[in-house]
Amino acid sequence: ANNGFPADSKVYKLEKESELRCEVPWDGQLTVKLLEGVAEIFGTEIAQGQELHYRGGDKFAVFTWYGATVEITGQPEVSYVADETPMVSYVNTHAVLEARRQSAREASSVDGGAAGEETQGPRTIIVGPTDSGKSTLCKILLTYAARLGWKPTLVDLDIGQGQISIPGTIAATLVDKPVDPIEGYEMESPLVYFYGHVSPSENPDLYRTQVEQLASMLERRFAGSAEYRNAGAVINAMGWVESLGYELLLHAIETFRIDVVLVIGQERLFSQLSSQFHGRTRPDGSRIDVVKLNKSGGVVNRNPKHRQRTRTSRVREYFYGIAGDLSPHAMTVSFADVQIYRIGGGPKAPSSALPVGAQSHADPIKVTHVSISKDLTHAVLGISYAASAEQLLSSNVAGFIYVTEVDTMKRTLTYVAPSPGPLPNNLLLAGSLMWVEH
Ligand code: ADP
Repeated sequence: ANNGFPADSKVYKLEKESELRCEVPWDGQLTVKLLEGVAEIFGTEIAQGQELHYRGGDKFAVFTWYGATVEITGQPEVSYVADETPMVSYVNTHAVLEARRQSAREASSVDGGAAGEETQGPRTIIVGPTDSGKSTLCKILLTYAARLGWKPTLVDLDIGQGQISIPGTIAATLVDKPVDPIEGYEMESPLVYFYGHVSPSENPDLYRTQVEQLASMLERRFAGSAEYRNAGAVINAMGWVESLGYELLLHAIETFRIDVVLVIGQERLFSQLSSQFHGRTRPDGSRIDVVKLNKSGGVVNRNPKHRQRTRTSRVREYFYGIAGDLSPHAMTVSFADVQIYRIGGGPKAPSSALPVGAQSHADPIKVTHVSISKDLTHAVLGISYAASAEQLLSSNVAGFIYVTEVDTMKRTLTYVAPSPGPLPNNLLLAGSLMWVEH
């Protein structure tokens, strides 16, 4: 008799502006229930009495502005209450962005739908090293905006994790409702580019090209809708902030015409970026504000193994559904039915392997045809929207398949897709992304 609660449950009383932080072990699960008060999980209010079922490896916090009572059932790996959080600075940031959205909307009503610069809502990028809480802050800011009825756009440039699609992609989607604490972003038709690798150093030119493609699609979407334009965008940057990573960050800031740079948890990066943009104004007179925010003590450091595991489960979720509720289909096609391409033509010769003074001539964004072989077993392939091979570089993808078997005798390829039916296109893109079903 645990006061009427399930035997393995525990009740936490949260004071105002505090949060309960939990980590679920990889082989466990956990149920959260709000008993009293008002609380939110990464910006999304949770309903009293509703049971939220978290799965192995999840990490989250239940935060309250005014006080709440929360029940946890199950065996968390870690669970504790923290009364020091950066939430006040996050909500203040939200307020600044909100004021800019409002003035963008007012400008729109004055100039009757014209797409002048003053009607552009804030374009915010969130930067910081890996595990600084960037994705979490994205969720919080987008959810706060959606709670007020805005439809901001999320852009995810972090190919290492993939909040919108699978790892190895960059993508954008509209967010028109609070992010579901369990299911994550609900997406109608995200715009996804398949980069194909989990590290930008594999092919930085391709990464830059795809960032530019995505940005120009976003410009078009903004030009066509005052509602989307006024709401602006929140962009999740990569966690790699040194050398090439820093260059790619600057490239993203320019390409997306960012006006707010939020730096989490790294003094050095903040100072680098502030001096880079100090006193800078764009041709239209707008400034680039660089703002430093504290990292939450609740953000969990994930070691490379954990990150790898998270990546694998993102791919599994894509094929099998978050709750394992999709039933993916295995299909076999003949070699002649599909055309597989690769961008960048394989590994470049290291300069040490070349004669002195010679340069590697592999064109990093050249599209090359891949002849089907056993090497493709376990490869994750993007289904391009391209109408021809020439369009592969500038096309986004409809979805993904993974190859389970290549039969060179019968000349057939067997793959798994998340839904039945023929492939929407026979032009497929390969990268270095692999997935093995266990
Ligand atoms: P980044 O995007 O910078 O790599 P994330 O936002 O993904 O970092 O955070 C890393 C992990 O920490 C995630 O699993 C996230 O759910 C968890 N996390 C973030 N903030 C908190 C918090 N306040 N309490 C508990 N876990 C948190």
